[in-house]
Amino acid sequence: MPIQHAQLHWDDQGQPLSSAYDDVYFSRESGLEETRYVFLQHNRLAERFTALREHDCMVVGETGFGTGLNFLCCWQLFERQAPSDARLHFISAERFPLQPTDLQQALALWPELEDYSRQLLQAYRVIQPGMQTLLLANGRVQLTLLIGEACEQLVQLDGLVDAWFLDGFAPAKNPDMWTDALFNQLARLSAPEATLATFTSAGFVRRGLQAAGFAMQRTPGFGRKREMLCGQLENAPLAEWQAPWFARPSRRLSAKKHAIVVGAGLAGCATARSLANRGWQVTVLEREARIAGRASGNAQGMLYLKLSAAHTPLSQLVLAGFGFSRRLLQQWPNSDHWQACGLLQLAWNPQESKRQQQLVAAFSNDLLQPLNAREATTVAGIGLEHGGLFYPDSGWISPAHWCRWLLDHPLITLETSTTVAQLQFEEPHWQVLTTDGRHWQAPVVVLANAADAAQLSQAAHLPLKAIRGQTSLLPASPASSVLRCVVSADGYVAPAHNGQHCTGASFVFDNPSTALNGQEQLDNIQRLQQLSPELYRAMGGDALQQAALAGHAAQRCSTPDYLPLVGPLADAEIFTSRYAGLRHNARLQADTPCPWLPGLYVNLAHGSRGLVTAPLSGELLAGWICNEPLPLPRQVAEACHPNRFLLRQLARGV
Ligand code: SAM
Repeated sequence: MPIQHAQLHWDDQGQPLSSAYDDVYFSRESGLEETRYVFLQHNRLAERFTALREHDCMVVGETGFGTGLNFLCCWQLFERQAPSDARLHFISAERFPLQPTDLQQALALWPELEDYSRQLLQAYRVIQPGMQTLLLANGRVQLTLLIGEACEQLVQLDGLVDAWFLDGFAPAKNPDMWTDALFNQLARLSAPEATLATFTSAGFVRRGLQAAGFAMQRTPGFGRKREMLCGQLENAPLAEWQAPWFARPSRRLSAKKHAIVVGAGLAGCATARSLANRGWQVTVLEREARIAGRASGNAQGMLYLKLSAAHTPLSQLVLAGFGFSRRLLQQWPNSDHWQACGLLQLAWNPQESKRQQQLVAAFSNDLLQPLNAREATTVAGIGLEHGGLFYPDSGWISPAHWCRWLLDHPLITLETSTTVAQLQFEEPHWQVLTTDGRHWQAPVVVLANAADAAQLSQAAHLPLKAIRGQTSLLPASPASSVLRCVVSADGYVAPAHNGQHCTGASFVFDNPSTALNGQEQLDNIQRLQQLSPELYRAMGGDALQQAALAGHAAQRCSTPDYLPLVGPLADAEIFTSRYAGLRHNARLQADTPCPWLPGLYVNLAHGSRGLVTAPLSGELLAGWICNEPLPLPRQVAEACHPNRFLLRQLARGV
């Protein structure tokens, strides 16, 4: 479903009102005071924030993000009360997100929140349906927006919430928001003793919440409102059966937050940063003498969105990942190493043209815009023979520089020229042995070393595929430098950077070499010619075929279903014998715990989409490791789960 933005009008005091619901976003008397009284005070947040211990993460859930006023007040209180290394994760469902310009106008009403609203406004971009993760305050505050109908979104959430703000419009004006199904989701997602507060005192809301398991209380309301409701989870709902192979490994986190990440490509660097943001000491071990030397080593990579109108798990991952990567880049200002110049995906054959028509119907115009050949030529600044889809928020990045930026954190240490040969678990640590006889130890190890992971016995069962890819660097000319955006079709070409255009990439199976290959350079030149004959001529035309060109070749790591592998690893042999019953009965509700390899995780196989999927996968992995809410729908997390291939093997009777 394309996004539907809030339709607002403004009253004579400059306060926003919803045109669709004919209701106010906050009290006309004082929105700030109402928020503090109803939601902060009645969830006892000041004392609970003060009581947080080192690195604790408090999770607040909300129905109705609206203008974000509640969130900003909560963040302000957290900043004032919580220890400096505690974290706040605020999860809020919103069906009709405000347009950025409306958000800016609404938040201008609260000068005392300016420090916070500025950061929110800077991050509030590429807000698309589904789960959208925003990192604020250098990662100390995480905002997960669930864009869509609240109940439908909460059903997909995996995590526990400590305090709830119920803030949909008035139940009489918006009964769809206040349903028993929603109340049951709130109870399902509540941590033991979770609290709840809402401005309404409607009897059916109180009874519905009681029926869901909350002990509810009426209490004086704010301003002219006589009463409001607050409560606490009293009777946790009976947990439904959960597949043990997708359950959270129930291991008590060791007091020592130290992780070893194997591999300093984008997946490894992003994982290291997500853990360091949570107070983990991270040692990154890299086999090469420099970081991002392999599949993340292209001079310019593109933020390419391989979307599907059917909203498959891969498409959901790509959409959420794109927003996350794009917002992360926004925190890297004044950088010469990325450019949000937009990306044009050409409709270069009838099949692609049909696919693009479906995408136009399935996604909103602020994400992708259909252009004819003339419009595409204007946007690109260079002659194009096809129209296509323009993604205005996309662009190119130098992956190696991005990796360096991600590793630039006081809790991260990098060891290059270090090849991991073996892993051994000796309670409570993993011993990590290198080929040259050195060793490290930590309670948590993350394998982010692409296809090399399969050389370690614990990960040998993962079906990793290597696909060779080569990019070429073409010297820019004055005529080629007019290219304004990334253009892609069968291959891609980026605007000039440091006097060169990066173009590519080849896609070659069963060739393990990483040496530059002359034929693949020629193939890249031919792809460029197909993308834009005008650009090809501007760069030298047929003379390019004789030129000695620089480039980069590497092996992309992928899987048979093209989804990455992100999550905890199990012992494959014990797994296969423990769940052998699945060979005969695919619906078997096994209840024996999964044989997890304690503290061992992977973040692998991002193929050629790592710029879009790897950074969010770092957050996903941190969610698994730190037992925090996952930043992706449960179904997407399971689609990326390392156990999926063991399950498929059993289903095939193998
Ligand atoms: N908490 C907000 C703030 O701090 O500005 C005010 C929330 S406003 C009163 C209610 C919000 O709930 C609106 O933004 C509205 O679009 C949203 N909403 C209404 N029905 C919804 C539903 N079924 N699912 C998700 N959001 C919904």
